[in-house]
Amino acid sequence: MIKLNNISKYYPAGFGKTYVLRNISLEIGEGEFVSIMGPSGSGKSTLLHILGLLEAASEGEYLFMDSPVQKLNEKKRTELHRNAIGFVFQAYHLIDELTVYENIETPLLYKGMKSSERKSKVADILDRFNIVGKKDLFPSQLSGGQQQLVGVARAIVSEPKVIFADEPTGNLHSEQADDIMKLFKELNEKDGVTIVQVTHSEKNAAYGERIIKLKDGWLDV
Ligand code: ADP
Ligand code: ADP
Repeated sequence: MIKLNNISKYYPAGFGKTYVLRNISLEIGEGEFVSIMGPSGSGKSTLLHILGLLEAASEGEYLFMDSPVQKLNEKKRTELHRNAIGFVFQAYHLIDELTVYENIETPLLYKGMKSSERKSKVADILDRFNIVGKKDLFPSQLSGGQQQLVGVARAIVSEPKVIFADEPTGNLHSEQADDIMKLFKELNEKDGVTIVQVTHSEKNAAYGERIIKLKDGWLDV
């Protein structure tokens, strides 16, 4: 599903370059639940953004579902992103002006899905996540845990192959964090969704099957 060959990422610095990721080669198979760990500044978010097609690598090759990512044009990359990837952020990234219902519907609008189909998909997710009663509320009216539940609902509504999550429970109490991890576990086991999360928490990582460790931009093996 995911294959990185010697991926590096650098930023220009003076007359030289500062490397943030170096020679990363790894594979993540369909249906895996993987955690990326490492100290602050070790390149975890950068790696996740490259994997999730939000950022380009500077060097190396990335194959996502057998597509060579660097060789795709922006239109193809956006299409792949919309159809195959769901993203969950630490600070939720919900749209404050939209209701819970509208936030969850957004990815389906981008996909150009017709209204009746959108309605039924959003209704299914609201029901499954037990948040039907919250559908007309705005994000500011929800607790952090509920907001992240909506964040996950929005990530999953378009039925992606992979969910990338960047410290999804970083702003949550441990009980709320466990709820989100249990949800990931269920999406992984029942729906076969591949999960790749960045986390500082050993407890969160224990919900997954494998840990990828980074140190100073290198794979720490
Ligand atoms: P982590 O998620 O492990 O904390 P990041 O991937 O966020 O690490 O960042 C890794 C390193 O890359 C940090 O030293 C950070 O300062 C640097 N970095 C991230 N984005 C940029 C950028 N746009 N320009 C320059 N340096 C950056
Ligand atoms: P999104 O809309 O999902 O944030 P885009 O595909 O619009 O991502 O990319 C934003 C910018 O980053 C574009 O200018 C694009 O050229 C560049 N970019 C993003 N991902 C890649 C990638 N994997 N390879 C090359 N360039 C990329």
